[in-house]
Amino acid sequence: MILVLTYHQIRGAEKNRDRDFYAVTRDGFVAQVKATLQAGGREMPVRDLVTSRTIPVPSEARFLLTFDDGTVDHYEIVFPVLKELGLRGVFFVPTAKLNRPGYLADAQVSEMAEAGQAIGFHGHEHVRLDRATDEKMRDQFQRSRDILTRLTGQQPLAFAAPGGFLSEHLREVALGFGVEVIRTMRWGFNHHPDQTALETVPVNRHLTELQFQKILRGEPPPRLLYFGKQAAKALVPARAYERLRGLVFKCTPKS
Ligand SMILES: [Zn+2]
Repeated sequence: MILVLTYHQIRGAEKNRDRDFYAVTRDGFVAQVKATLQAGGREMPVRDLVTSRTIPVPSEARFLLTFDDGTVDHYEIVFPVLKELGLRGVFFVPTAKLNRPGYLADAQVSEMAEAGQAIGFHGHEHVRLDRATDEKMRDQFQRSRDILTRLTGQQPLAFAAPGGFLSEHLREVALGFGVEVIRTMRWGFNHHPDQTALETVPVNRHLTELQFQKILRGEPPPRLLYFGKQAAKALVPARAYERLRGLVFKCTPKS
């Protein structure tokens, strides 16, 4: 299997007092990466997914760390951890947000790419694209590709749809822009990996160490947490969903 973990913000403990659903502490993140390595996992960087075309056998545990939304902690906290451990993740950066307060700066993206980290497409403005016009989709890819190619000296090879909203047409447009690896937001462990439709396990602040150990063994997540979550997302407006999500997670027995 290829375990593709999706992270958002990684924060120092002192900054993690608010209720940002996806924000994980630095200590929690480091513990999870080390547990993954201790469980015998070997990294499966984007570059290898593209060039080798080697699909690991089901019994082989490979992992890919992905980081969404281009926040500055990805440079300040995540990048040093990956360097120290010799790991190469993929950072999905909405390019319109570069150089804004709280987000990555141009030079930071260049430095990370130079050090072997992959920088991927995540829309230009991080607007939902699955229902956008073809013209809008292409415009978002074009702008991002111009910026990322200039900053990294490389064509971006990976794409994650903003908000996880992917359609067949959006996938085709992405492939047309040179994308070879697509991370979806579909839960799963990639027992039969398709590089253009990788399943993932999103990590959030409520994930316990025990639950993470189960994920490392490829055990399906607790039903209420995940299937309930996807059903809720489809049925309720975004703002209400944010509140509901917090409630569901707090009420779920930790297993
Ligand atoms: Zn995002």
